[in-house]
Amino acid sequence: MQSKINKLLSVIVHPETGVDIVSGRNVESVAADGEKIVVALRFAKRHDPFALKIKSRVEQALAEAFPEHAVTVFVKEGEAPARNKAQEAIEELHANTSTTDIGKVIAIASGKGGVGKSTVTANLALALRNMGYSVGVLDADIYGPSQAKMFGAEDYLPDAVQQDGREYIVPAERMGVKVMSIAMFIRPTDALLWRGTMANSALRQLVHQTLWGRLDYLLIDLPPGTGDIHLSIINELHIDGAVIVSTPQQVAVADVVRGVEMFRNPNVAIPVLGIVENMAWFTPKELPDNRYYIFGRGGAARYAAEAGVEVLGEIPIVQSIMQGSDDGMPAVATDSEVEKHYREVARKIIEGCAKHC
Ligand code: ADP
Repeated sequence: MQSKINKLLSVIVHPETGVDIVSGRNVESVAADGEKIVVALRFAKRHDPFALKIKSRVEQALAEAFPEHAVTVFVKEGEAPARNKAQEAIEELHANTSTTDIGKVIAIASGKGGVGKSTVTANLALALRNMGYSVGVLDADIYGPSQAKMFGAEDYLPDAVQQDGREYIVPAERMGVKVMSIAMFIRPTDALLWRGTMANSALRQLVHQTLWGRLDYLLIDLPPGTGDIHLSIINELHIDGAVIVSTPQQVAVADVVRGVEMFRNPNVAIPVLGIVENMAWFTPKELPDNRYYIFGRGGAARYAAEAGVEVLGEIPIVQSIMQGSDDGMPAVATDSEVEKHYREVARKIIEGCAKHC
C-alpha cells in the first residue's frame, strides 16, 4: 500500500519547482492502516502559494485510489527541524548492510615521527573524497594523535548509539570525510602510559564499533616507528595495503627500510603499495619555476628501485600544507596545486590496491 501511495504522490508536481513532491521532499510522512491514510506535507517556504493546491490534489488522488479509506492531509511550513545525529547514524546503518562494509583499509606508516605522515593521511583522504570515493580516517597514532585537529574536529564528542543490543560510536564528519580518533577517548598525556594490549583493544573497538557506514577507503594513521606495538596494532586492524611516508633525508636510512620490512614480514604479509616522499623540494613563491631540493634528491627513487617498491608521489614543502594542518582544513581543500599532487598519489594507490590488495 505504501508503495502505491508513493507512486500516486510522485506524479504530483510542484508547479514552481517542476519537481514532483516526493523527490522534492514535500512528503514528510505517510501513515496508513486498514481505515485511514494520513499524509504530512512540508513546504520549506512559509505561505507557499501552491501548498493548498497540492494538498487538495493529494487528497483527491488518494480518495480516488482508496475510496474505503478516510484521507487526512496535513500541511506544515518552514524547514524541517534538524534531525538528531544519532538517529541519522542509525538510519544510515540501516541503509547500508553493516558497519564492516569497508572496501579497503590502507595504513599510512612512517619510520619516524615528524615526516608528515598525519598530514599526508588527511590530504590523501580529501583527495580520494574529491575523486568521488567515500572515505574514513582512523587516527591510530596513540603517541601523537592529530587527525581531529587536522579536520577541525577537536571539540567533537562522539555519541554512542544502541543498535540491535550493540553499542556504536558515531564518527565526526568533516568535509565529507568520517573521522574517528583515539584522541577522542584518551587524554594525550595518558598515551605514553598505554600498554600495548590496552591500545589494541581500544583501536579494535574503534574500527569495528564505529558507524562508518559504507566506505570505499578507510585510511589508518599508524603510530610512527616499527616496534612490537605496531606489529600488534597492524595484526588487529585487517589492513589491506600500506603506504610509507618519508622525507628525502629519511628515505635511505634504516627507519624506512624497517618500515617496509615490517609489512613484508611473513607473519604480517601486507602489500606495501609504495612510498610517498614528503617535503621533496621547496619552491619560493617569487621563483615558481625553481625547485630547491634542500633535503637531497632522488633518494626515494633509488631506494624504491632497490627494494622493489613504488614511489607513489612527491609532495613539495608548501606553506598552505602547514597552514592547513593548523587551521583544521587540509590544504587539498583550498590549494589546487597541492590537490594535484595528492590526486596523483591517490590514483597510484587505487591502482596498486586493485593489483595487490
Ligand atoms: P607526523 O605525522 O609524521 O609526525 P605531521 O603530519 O604532524 O608529521 O607533520 C609534521 C609538521 O610538518 C606539521 O607541522 C606539518 O604541518 C608539517 N608538514 C608536513 N608536510 C608538509 C609539507 N609538505 N609542507 C609543509 N609543511 C609540512
